[in-house]
Amino acid sequence: MNGKSVKLAVLKGDGIGPEVVQSAVEILRFAAERNSLSLELVELKIGLEAYKLFGRTFPPETLEGMKLCDGWILGPLSAGSYPKDDQDYPMASGKIRKEFDLFANIRPIKSLARGLNKNIDLVIVRENTEDFYPDRNLFKGYSEFWPNEDTVLSLRVITRKACARIAEAAFRLASSRSGKKLVTAVHKSNVLIEGDGLFLEEVRKAARNFPEIRLNDGLVDSVAMQLVTSPQSFDIIVTTNMFGDILSDVAAGSAGGLGLAPSLNSGEKYAMAQAVHGSAPDIAGKGIANPTAEILSVAMLLKWLHSKIGNESARDTAGDIERATYEVLDSTESAALTVDLGGEANTKRFTREILDRLGKLV
Ligand code: NAD
Repeated sequence: MNGKSVKLAVLKGDGIGPEVVQSAVEILRFAAERNSLSLELVELKIGLEAYKLFGRTFPPETLEGMKLCDGWILGPLSAGSYPKDDQDYPMASGKIRKEFDLFANIRPIKSLARGLNKNIDLVIVRENTEDFYPDRNLFKGYSEFWPNEDTVLSLRVITRKACARIAEAAFRLASSRSGKKLVTAVHKSNVLIEGDGLFLEEVRKAARNFPEIRLNDGLVDSVAMQLVTSPQSFDIIVTTNMFGDILSDVAAGSAGGLGLAPSLNSGEKYAMAQAVHGSAPDIAGKGIANPTAEILSVAMLLKWLHSKIGNESARDTAGDIERATYEVLDSTESAALTVDLGGEANTKRFTREILDRLGKLV
């Protein structure tokens, strides 16, 4: 990686993955060209396509190829329906987060287009490596167990290190953006007394280094309700893995739908663009998916690359992608908007609209 050129892996994923990733890549290429960003894209196989070719959903060649890139664009994976004989069962996405220590899952939720609520502008900062996720919360092994044929034990792991670093990531973000300067720590410490007690302790410790940021906290059930009734009151939400996963869908629903919710998985060395939504089997192959979430995830990845390597063309490319996408989403023409937003456009038409806007940006 040098100051100017950027090498990204493209992993299309399953279901609507190839459709939304293709759209995001077309837009990326066009915006990169406009901003003289030297870009190399490498396609790597993952998911059901990889299973057909290699008998597994996350082949070693893909992992090795990823190591040679500056960042990755991943489409959603149909992990819920992967064959049980897949060597990479249950899912590549967890393996990637664990292998590359992508500990912070950053999920911005903004009112775009026709959401239930206006003026939402919050970010969910979700811990990504432990908690109730059995595919990544142990050094080795899978943390669900069958002590007998009628009982399953699922292990929750909360560590001081993971809590401390996600808390710091949340405060840094609150400090760097022109928001409400408010971090809300979301937990269930009345029930998960020890684990969420530890989480809160580390959040409060991190808060001491950011005196300009207010710290609030709330129980996850109550916050879920507020994300529907008064989502405008939040700025940064920091939380553990599973709560963050669930709350991002709640907040996305309030703001306009899953098709609009981007996300970045990031660590110290690597980052991966991956929309919040899944592979949407109910609409896969119909060409009607909303690619906004994947497109804006790519913009997040470019901004992350700028913050790491100072590549200004990457930052400008991200800025153009965001502006053109927001302009199309602001459109009142239903012909330009996708079906999930009440419009009539298919994925290709919506992509063309963004490409047209990109061409006209000054
Ligand atoms: P989902 O997010 O795929 O779909 C939920 C609903 O939202 C569906 O009605 C779908 O049509 C709609 N939707 C999602 N993305 C959309 C888009 N871009 N445009 C328009 N509508 C969109 O959730 P699900 O149905 O519960 O899960 C399907 C599969 O995806 C499962 O196998 C699950 O394991 C997997 N999954 C993967 C990820 C990921 O890879 N990041 C995340 C969540 C679920």
